[in-house]
Amino acid sequence: MDDRNVEDVDLLVVGGGKAGKSLAMDRAKAGWNVVMVERDKIGGTCINVACIPTKALVGSARAMTAAHRAAEMGVDIGGEPSIALDRLRRHKESVVDGMVAAHKKLFADSGMDFVLGTARFIAERTVEIRTSSGDTRMVRGRDVVINTGTTPSQPQLDGIAQAQIWNSETVLRLERLPETMLVLGGGYIGCEFASMFATFGTRVTLLQGPGQLLAREDPDVAEQVADILTGQGVDVRLGVRATAVRREPGHGDVVVTFRDGLEVRGQELLVATGRTPVTADLGLKAAGVAVTDQGFVAVDDHLRTTAEQVWAAGDVAGSPQFTHASWHDFRILRANLTGGDAVTTGRLVPYTVFLTPELARVGLTEAEARAQGRRVRVARIPVAAIPRAKTLHDTVGTWKAVVDADTDQILGAALLGHSSGEVVSTIQVAMLGGLRYHQVRDAILTHPTMSEGLNLLFDTLDHPVRQPPSATS
Ligand SMILES: Cc1cc2nc3c(=O)[nH]c(=O)nc-3n(C[C@H](O)[C@H](O)[C@H](O)COP(=O)(O)OP(=O)(O)OC[C@H]3O[C@@H](n4cnc5c(N)ncnc54)[C@H](O)[C@@H]3O)c2cc1C
Repeated sequence: MDDRNVEDVDLLVVGGGKAGKSLAMDRAKAGWNVVMVERDKIGGTCINVACIPTKALVGSARAMTAAHRAAEMGVDIGGEPSIALDRLRRHKESVVDGMVAAHKKLFADSGMDFVLGTARFIAERTVEIRTSSGDTRMVRGRDVVINTGTTPSQPQLDGIAQAQIWNSETVLRLERLPETMLVLGGGYIGCEFASMFATFGTRVTLLQGPGQLLAREDPDVAEQVADILTGQGVDVRLGVRATAVRREPGHGDVVVTFRDGLEVRGQELLVATGRTPVTADLGLKAAGVAVTDQGFVAVDDHLRTTAEQVWAAGDVAGSPQFTHASWHDFRILRANLTGGDAVTTGRLVPYTVFLTPELARVGLTEAEARAQGRRVRVARIPVAAIPRAKTLHDTVGTWKAVVDADTDQILGAALLGHSSGEVVSTIQVAMLGGLRYHQVRDAILTHPTMSEGLNLLFDTLDHPVRQPPSATS
């Protein structure tokens, strides 16, 4: 490497995910000389092929559900609602395109040097970039941040490479709305797609290896999710082990074979069995950056890698695989790159599974709390008890909260029901503030909102009821 050809900058960001792009813009605005390299997704995975397009489509699925429910609520929409695939695709694309355009402008306005290209380490803190326009650049950062994310994993099943399957990225091209579809993997991504496609009118079969969906949730919560999906027409099959996949000739059905020899078929197969860190082709050895056994960049609680002044953030660093976790990694890095001392330990990372209705989670599950040896109390209400849910004709679901019996502190919650993803933030803030459950129970919350249900939820700990409680109306 000829050192004269190497450009030296204050900050080099490899991969423009949520943490990387936020840090690059922040430091560029602060006057640092910043280069950020992004392979092909301006704005990162979330806005191009993950959270944003999927939630745009969940929005469409919910519009469909609302249209079905309209008659019950006194609105005549004059016929059966149906999906217009071209317009569905355009809706999703317009949301994504708008955000990509906004990011281009934000990047330019920040003053960073945004490079569209693929980076690979060739020495300590130094990458070679193959730009999209065919040039080559070598850049060395005083500080370097690796934020290359994850990509869909493909399980080792006989025939899968030839079967023209969909993954979470290719399914979003919306080439067709199949009449029948198999979804392999009952984690968050598989459940979201199963719910969405079933609402669009596809007959979905959801195949899950473990004995419950959403393996890290409490079994009672996972069972309710399975019931909701079943109610949407999804054929949920648990404890099934796929061994082989084949596509029948002439782009016929995809057939999945199980260990016991049984088969199931559908027009398409969506594989959603986890994500693989993007580290294999990064040249990390040349940079002195170690990876874990699973291929994630090894980091300490400050997000430092094994190489001096090289940091990692987001999915690739093994952080919880959510955009908001990556965004928090940005805040940690911003502090640590400017003389601070921020750590990832003990952080509370909530998440929402965007089924209809959604499952929102924060803190410990009941099983996790008991496994820690705590004495716990469990509060539970049916969503049907919440007046707002009644007004919306959307009464499906159950809320559950776990409270420490010795300290009265809220340890966690699983809220399954309308707008749970919004309501869970209230519980999270209460947890962050160290509130006792009765302070939430007794807070005066706006009526009629879904959040008001928190009064009812925590009230059940002191006033157990046979009948579902009801707030005043
Ligand atoms: C279908 C789906 C739905 C999801 N829904 C949600 C949701 O609703 N809410 C939520 O919080 N999370 C959701 N997630 C997870 C979320 O998308 C990820 O956790 C998040 O995008 C990770 O961001 P990141 O900062 O790790 O990097 P990413 O956003 O993954 O960015 C990494 C970037 O690095 C680039 N890159 C890789 N290698 C190189 C290289 N050699 N050179 C240059 N650039 C490179 C990639 O092109 C990519 O743009 C979803 C994920 C999927 C798959």
